[in-house]
Amino acid sequence: MSNTQMTSNAPWLGVIADDFTGASDVAGSLVSAGMRVVQTFGVPDPSMQLHDADCIIVSLKTRSVPVVEAVEQSLAAARALKSRGVQQLYFKYCSTFDSTPEGNIGPVADALRGEFVPAGQITVVAPGTPALRRTVYNGVLFAGTDLLHESSMRNHPLTPMTDSSVPRLLQAQTKKLVGHIGYSVVEAGAPAVQSQFQTLGGQGTEYAVVDTLHDLHLATLGAAVLDHPLVTGGSGLVGGLAAARGFRGQPQSPRAAQPTGAAAVVAGSCSEMTRMQITAFRRQRPCFLVDPVAIAQGQDVVAEALLFARDNLPDGPVLIHSTASPQEVSRAQRQLGKARAAEITEDSLSKIAEGLVALGIRQLIVAGGETSGAVVRKLGITTAHVGKEVSPGVPWLETDTGPGLSILLKSGNLGTPGLFLDAWDHNG
Ligand code: ADP
Repeated sequence: MSNTQMTSNAPWLGVIADDFTGASDVAGSLVSAGMRVVQTFGVPDPSMQLHDADCIIVSLKTRSVPVVEAVEQSLAAARALKSRGVQQLYFKYCSTFDSTPEGNIGPVADALRGEFVPAGQITVVAPGTPALRRTVYNGVLFAGTDLLHESSMRNHPLTPMTDSSVPRLLQAQTKKLVGHIGYSVVEAGAPAVQSQFQTLGGQGTEYAVVDTLHDLHLATLGAAVLDHPLVTGGSGLVGGLAAARGFRGQPQSPRAAQPTGAAAVVAGSCSEMTRMQITAFRRQRPCFLVDPVAIAQGQDVVAEALLFARDNLPDGPVLIHSTASPQEVSRAQRQLGKARAAEITEDSLSKIAEGLVALGIRQLIVAGGETSGAVVRKLGITTAHVGKEVSPGVPWLETDTGPGLSILLKSGNLGTPGLFLDAWDHNG
């Protein structure tokens, strides 16, 4: 790849992410690889200025919406990206393959394939992201050393994962044939993987779940799919694609300055890492708990949370969370219904975020994919430049629209336990 191509103004990669923190996760990988990345929230309209980027990431909130909406929005995002000249589309889902038996990963991938992939060509499915300790071995997804369905993901409030076989999970969501490529083929190199694509394609297979145990596997797979019009996976494989395109990690962003200003965390994620991060924060700074059941009973929890913030912000960052144990989440879901509990929580946390910005917050961490979607929408943020990565998959974003914020959108299980204490300017 020539230098001219690497610094050209035309983005070569267009990512469609099924939630906002997943988009941040992929953005962090690409910035670390040395790419210039712009992130949009929602489908960019044609008038939006998205220049000087190697990659445009469209963040959608399609993981848990009805299938028809997810397909419609994903196709609209893909068309918008193609109209801006991207050569390759990447459908990004969670490295823990978060979905229900209905989807939405399968139906969205089917729709993208139908429009952008020539008949007979394989599409890879590679959720494995070793940097986040997500690996796929014999088609089975591991979270660290745990099988996915024995990890904390079995208790996720919206997409509890009760199976660890990626081919089986995907096959339940698509009528197309799903195959598998083992790690020994990947270790034989990109030509061996491509030859396996041919073999599987000849048998009528349309998707190949590929084993990925470490970053070298992703680099090989990236090289094998370099000319594929559509690639699907977690944030790991984009790093492989960037490497295959000659990006060798010169972190660069004209806006990567350390964020400054009053700071707060809003957490709606109930994932294990978020709970550890809250426990660590609580040892040093005050926290406020948002209970969806109390809100449903008419308590003005939003106003109470903002009073708490106003009183405590002069001394440092504050944290407001609905994060609760699996037992407490089940209790709320039994009383309110799963969808209503999530809706009330997301609505309240996004109003709280809006109130925090009105109180002068200029650095905001939001924990949780669905939660981030709700907050970003409420704040009216439509685009951001991706800046400093605090830990793998967790970059600060400098928003281009909305209130002029540094915002960090953290997927439930990402980051270190000290993230809510360490991410701010004064510790940078
Ligand atoms: P993650 O990134 O960990 O998956 P998300 O924000 O995507 O986090 O998902 C968490 C979901 O759980 C959200 O829809 C949120 O509104 C819901 N939720 C959060 N707290 C509670 C609670 N106390 N009771 C019921 N549902 C909750």
